[in-house]
Amino acid sequence: MKSQTRASLLRLVAFLASSLATLAANRPNIVVIFTDDHAQHAISAYGSKINRTPHIDQLAAEGLRFNQSFVGNAICGPSRATLLTGLHSHANGQTGNRSPFRDELPSFAKTLQANGYDTAMIGKWHITTKPNGFDHWAIKTGGYYNSSFRTKDGVEKSEGYVTDVITQRSLDWIKGRPSPENPFMVWISHSAVHRIWAPALRHLDRYTDVEIPEPVTLFDTYSGKAPGAATAQMTIARDLFPAYDLMLPVTGQGILDNAAQQMLNTFTPSQRQQWDAAFVPRNEAFAKMNLQGEALTRWNYQRYMKNYLRCVDGLDESVGTVRAFLKANNLDENTIVIYTSDQGFFLGEHGWYDKRWMYEESLRTPLIIHWPGVTKGESTSEALVQNIDLAPTFLEMAGVQPQGTMHGKSLVPLLRGEPTPQWRDSIYYHYQMIEPESRTSHLVARHYGVRTEHHKLIYFYDFNRWELYDLVSDPHEVLNQIDNPHYAGIIDLLKAELKRLRSQYADETGKPF
Ligand code: CA
Repeated sequence: MKSQTRASLLRLVAFLASSLATLAANRPNIVVIFTDDHAQHAISAYGSKINRTPHIDQLAAEGLRFNQSFVGNAICGPSRATLLTGLHSHANGQTGNRSPFRDELPSFAKTLQANGYDTAMIGKWHITTKPNGFDHWAIKTGGYYNSSFRTKDGVEKSEGYVTDVITQRSLDWIKGRPSPENPFMVWISHSAVHRIWAPALRHLDRYTDVEIPEPVTLFDTYSGKAPGAATAQMTIARDLFPAYDLMLPVTGQGILDNAAQQMLNTFTPSQRQQWDAAFVPRNEAFAKMNLQGEALTRWNYQRYMKNYLRCVDGLDESVGTVRAFLKANNLDENTIVIYTSDQGFFLGEHGWYDKRWMYEESLRTPLIIHWPGVTKGESTSEALVQNIDLAPTFLEMAGVQPQGTMHGKSLVPLLRGEPTPQWRDSIYYHYQMIEPESRTSHLVARHYGVRTEHHKLIYFYDFNRWELYDLVSDPHEVLNQIDNPHYAGIIDLLKAELKRLRSQYADETGKPF
């Protein structure tokens, strides 16, 4: 009798194991291509007026493009902490690049790993604790060229351009993972397009003969904006460091000049030769022009944008490389590919580079998802979505329940094209990184706010100053309507909504109003 019971039990266990294996086999792989500082408006699928991104466009053509995709705090480390936890910054601890991440919280990576997924993170990390929830991780420790990577086994050197190296390391991990029968999730965490905008050698000659169109607010006067906008140190006119940001000759003056020299020191002789062959003649021509004033700002803009867009070209190629690899290895039909960035970026709008502000260019982030058999090609969504939504989305894709509370909502119903009448009417934002946390904080004032489909209300609490923008009549956000009586009713509604959001997300940081 006992042995019969044992045999039945064994059969049951075998049956369950095989059912689990079948389930696992059907669970989709998840490839998160996560880039840095890549603005929506530098992607042709999002209507870019300044460049073409054929591989990202192809992903959008086969998948779903979220047109209203935003972040909750437009800065690198915090955005990664939100990606992991599905929580706004105040709740996950990493409110700034150096503030302590609450590693004890559940994350999508930990939950996927606990539910049979093989998990990996390769590239830029920027969370203030060690990676947790990843079978394999490799953190980029250097710059754009010949960076080292820190892994569980120590520091590993690499040679080549960082976007290519991160891509290759990610594909090598997929190919060599020890249990190919398990579903996998890989977070390909590119460091491009972050400063120092160093392109791949093969892209150095792109855009040399073209004039990148200027944004309408390149010479913004900041009229009507709260104090802080006019004094922020992120202008194309005055705050681009010659060697670090513009690839002009190193003079030995200042911290970022030294950083530029350090990057040049990482080149191999052959790389340095190709680099100099591109930039030395251009820099000599620039010096001869002796530009001043607006002409110099325009030149700065062209130099900045061309290097930025060359870095984007590297990312776009990476998307093509990843997708070709998946196809060649018969993984494409069961692998979800997500393209997103940690936040947007100012490409000359308001006269700026960088991010941090709640204005559209940095608040928006690209989000394109291709889920074979689920997303319909050429589809778009106008739902207000945010980076808090990604973690719950990845978990539902994998068919597992989130552990604990997440602020975000799974995007899966939107991806399936199901009706979502009660989706979301507004999104919440809070930037609160304070000086001198980073030498490149650019003196941006702390602020929180609410954005709806048509309006945006921002509170700069250190100055007790409000801004209201009508995004329909004023998409460039140059007319602060806070004192316009025509908007009084809307302002009341938005203030009530902002209070509701701060209560819903239990954000008690920053000054109340
Ligand atoms: Ca970033």
